[in-house]
Amino acid sequence: MKIICIGQNYFRHALEMNSTVPANPMFFLKPDSAYLRNNHPFFLPDFSNEIHHEIEIVVKISRLGKCIEPQFAHRYYDEIGLGIDFTARDLQRECIANGWPWEMSKAFDQSACVGEFMDKSKLGDLHNIDFSLTLNGKTVQQGNTADMAFYIDDLIAYISKFMTLKIGDLIFTGTPQGIGPVHINDQLEGFIGNQKMLECRIK
Ligand code: MG
Repeated sequence: MKIICIGQNYFRHALEMNSTVPANPMFFLKPDSAYLRNNHPFFLPDFSNEIHHEIEIVVKISRLGKCIEPQFAHRYYDEIGLGIDFTARDLQRECIANGWPWEMSKAFDQSACVGEFMDKSKLGDLHNIDFSLTLNGKTVQQGNTADMAFYIDDLIAYISKFMTLKIGDLIFTGTPQGIGPVHINDQLEGFIGNQKMLECRIK
């Protein structure tokens, strides 16, 4: 199983990163060792002083595919959920400044917290999914898939030009604005609409 993460897929998040949305989707990978189960604690690593939360809609691939046309992409996933792309922002800045790959800052153990999934048919219009993240009960990130620069089907089409998508692969589709640091004992909860899909305590 591989975890594919889209960078800068929401205009206002790109803005808060002093960046812009790219002309084509931009993506990077996390290994399967990055997977963190729902309701399991995230342990702050000793190599970073600035771990950030990034709440994201996650798509679970249900069918093997390569070079998938956008109009057929919907056949390659049945379930949608939420995840947190934990990011060592201090290391990411160092990687960017030096032109290094992002793995140290993005692909470490437990950096992909994955919540529950729901059948996509329950969500109705996939271009209008409200989702949010609360930190200690206060909403810190709020997004809607309508604001994506590249929609789910276009992401699948684009990624599958480069790499074969396999059953169980996860696509983190990018975070909306409101990213910020997490601290010990913080409680994170992710919602699609009003439904809680994800829970994680920082240790
Ligand atoms: Mg992200």
